[in-house]
Amino acid sequence: MDDYNSETDSDYASYWRDWFISTRGHEYFCEIDEDYLTDRFNLTGLQPEVHYYQYALDLITDVFDFDCDDETRESIEKSAKHLYGLVHARYIITTRGLQKMLEKYKKCDFGRCPRVLCRSHPLLPIGLSDVAHSKSVKLYCAKCEDVYSPKSSRHATIDGAYFGTSFPHILFQVYPALIPPKVNERYIPRCFGFKTHAMAALARWQEEQRANQDRRLLEAGVEVRRVESETIGDDSSSDDAS
Ligand SMILES: [Zn+2]
Repeated sequence: MDDYNSETDSDYASYWRDWFISTRGHEYFCEIDEDYLTDRFNLTGLQPEVHYYQYALDLITDVFDFDCDDETRESIEKSAKHLYGLVHARYIITTRGLQKMLEKYKKCDFGRCPRVLCRSHPLLPIGLSDVAHSKSVKLYCAKCEDVYSPKSSRHATIDGAYFGTSFPHILFQVYPALIPPKVNERYIPRCFGFKTHAMAALARWQEEQRANQDRRLLEAGVEVRRVESETIGDDSSSDDAS
């Protein structure tokens, strides 16, 4: 796989895209390459989804030259943001797009998992629907394999379709070394230091199931990567209340 070369991008003065990704609240977006945007094949099917499609595309690629009133300009601006988002969902699952998002992931640009036992694992943006205007963007943690709402309200209004439902999973397919190992560690509810009876019974059953599953997987030749980890604020030696 070719290394992403950021120099090719700086050859262009991409005013609109520079402005877009540096706007507050747009921290989850990466910059789409000029050559990706100008290849019509990549934009197939988007025309009916965007009002003023051609003007919006011209604005994104800095060739906008249309004398219009403020109201029309505002509509075109809005369309350009929507078009950029729709193309973004396609772009971030290309080789170059994945590399750009990977850089952002490494810098924790998407935030960190709020779950204590995930120990601030970095998150990735994800959509719960690929249809625009249906669900806002969420954040996926590869460690607990769960999704969370963004902490900041300025991210809560971003359309999830601008990232898509598959993006984090494609990223981990392309970069499997980044998949965090499964951890045999979980929070155990306790009352005054004693595990609650029902939870203790359930936890024992679940651990037994997990051990059986790991054994079956091993027999089938599938190696399960799990790491033992220290428990949090707890000496696990204390006995069940059962
Ligand atoms: Zn997590």
